[in-house]
Amino acid sequence: MARAREVLGRVFGHPGFRGLQAAVVERLLGGGDCLVLMPTGAGKSLCYQVPALVRPGLGLVVSPLIALMQDQVEALRELGVRAAYLNSTQQAGEAAAIERAARRGELDLLYVAPERLLTERCLALLDECPLALIAIDEAHCVSQWGHDFRPEYLQLAPLGRRFPGVPRIALTATADPRTREEIVTGLDLTDVHRFVASFDRPNIRYRIVGKDNPQRQLLQFIDAEMAGQAGIVYCATRNRVEETAAALNRSGIDALAYHAGLDAGTRASNQQRFLQEDGRVMVATIAFGMGIDKPDVRFVAHLDMPRSIEGYYQETGRAGRDGEPAQAWMTYGLADVVQQRRLIDQSSGGETFRRVAAARLDAMLALAETTDCRRVRLLEYFGEAATPCGNCDNCLAPPERWDGTDAARKLLSCVYRARQASGIGFGALHVIAILRGQDNERTRRWGHEKLSTFGIGAELGEHTWRSVLRQLVAQGLLAVDHENHQTLELTAASREFLRGDQRLWLRGESAEPVRARSRSKAGRAATRPGAEGLSDPPEVLERFERLRRWRLERSRERGVPPYVIFHDAVLREIARRQPTTSAELAGISGIGTAKLESYGDELLRLMNEDEPSPPQ
Ligand code: ADP
Ligand code: ZN
Repeated sequence: MARAREVLGRVFGHPGFRGLQAAVVERLLGGGDCLVLMPTGAGKSLCYQVPALVRPGLGLVVSPLIALMQDQVEALRELGVRAAYLNSTQQAGEAAAIERAARRGELDLLYVAPERLLTERCLALLDECPLALIAIDEAHCVSQWGHDFRPEYLQLAPLGRRFPGVPRIALTATADPRTREEIVTGLDLTDVHRFVASFDRPNIRYRIVGKDNPQRQLLQFIDAEMAGQAGIVYCATRNRVEETAAALNRSGIDALAYHAGLDAGTRASNQQRFLQEDGRVMVATIAFGMGIDKPDVRFVAHLDMPRSIEGYYQETGRAGRDGEPAQAWMTYGLADVVQQRRLIDQSSGGETFRRVAAARLDAMLALAETTDCRRVRLLEYFGEAATPCGNCDNCLAPPERWDGTDAARKLLSCVYRARQASGIGFGALHVIAILRGQDNERTRRWGHEKLSTFGIGAELGEHTWRSVLRQLVAQGLLAVDHENHQTLELTAASREFLRGDQRLWLRGESAEPVRARSRSKAGRAATRPGAEGLSDPPEVLERFERLRRWRLERSRERGVPPYVIFHDAVLREIARRQPTTSAELAGISGIGTAKLESYGDELLRLMNEDEPSPPQ
């Protein structure tokens, strides 16, 4: 372990291991197998990279995603690690050179795609090279039920027998306990130690806001809090993606689009630009994201609600991999509930599928409607107990809870009376108009101004009624008939509610943006890990921007993404400490010997010149 710590400091520039890393490293150094479950950004890669450098022989890394492999290898080379990959993008000559280097023992880490590894040629090569360990990344790809299933992963099981005595480590960020067991059996990890970290992502601030005009809300959010930052905006449909990207661009925000309807060339180039350029916003359907390892995504926005908490957690998890403050922001409204319910009803899946899908949707709806800490809810869903976090909208500005029993009764009676009087159902707008006593052309046409429920809800505004309605639908106390003009219909549960004496507590809707109220609580948020950095003084921010410009220039020259040179966290720390000597620079986490050698002088000059260098 002493050697592992030495490598961690010298090569990676980190003062110590985090969380479960030390335990995993120790187990691998002792030759044992590991299953590592850690959330995105927890530092899974160091778990095998460090032991691969300490143990004699080649560290073999199986990774399903070619783009990701290239990034990792570039980043390792920056650190002076002898790393390479073998995949289908290479010329035969290039691959042969890497194979020769492996045979001569000149490589510390070799990344291969599973289909490549399973070729006779590659297995024969590995027979000739002593192996330090075998790491299987994204190990949940072995699960036939998950959407990332890769059949080749199932063929990795015999590796243990083929390379006896070589420790294996399987890693994933998927929280689901069933997948966990599928990995163990699928990869035949018999004597495995399980390392399960908390799935909390403390640096992500969760916010779910009432949907009113989502594009305008998004623009305001980006303008006010995320200007110039990289982010992903998820939309449900291709059209919405296109419209939203265009709207952002019209407002001067550099946005790119990504969905399955674009040709492969456009998709690849947009993805590349998102990775390589600083501060781009990617507007996408959920087709985008798997294998996006960009560490400095500062926000993930959902304009439409995902269909399950698993999806929400996975998508929002792409924010803030570097551990710096990040936001998960979502707009949510009645249309989301209706839309998702309709997708389930119209799906071709069987009875069981629908039941499971409906249960998952209900959990997602409960998360959206909760007045308690979002993080507690989220972690509870994955079987983890937690306490209120201080870094979600509900903690920062606790929403009101109000007794909505009377309001709900009024609304349901109104739906009932209107149908009874006219023999057909009516939509949300009309029902709200009756409740509020609006004597308009439509109410008069149906004679609804004569209903006993006309005007019984005049004390509440339109905004509040929409919120009541949404919550009733979310809780199944009211249904929307999507086959028939989105009319509102009572359900068995509504009838029971109208008969019974059960009280109904509802979430209060603030018209005011959360941010305005949360400012006074900023001090509290800043004490949480990952939430710091929101309040750096202007001169630090100026230095940070200077460093970012410098990094962008270097990354362009080198043809690598900016984060391969330095992560934001490292630049921020340099900006804060403003080091004047290499020793001070070396004391910053993330600056090892190789980086000090390559960039130390430039960084010191950049931090100690009087005038900021003009942007290039
Ligand atoms: P994962 O693969 O689990 O998503 P990464 O391996 O990409 O996470 O690491 C996430 C971030 O955490 C990176 O910026 C990495 O440099 C940083 N990191 C990992 N381990 C440590 C450590 N022990 N000390 C400081 N930073 C670390
Ligand atoms: Zn909270």
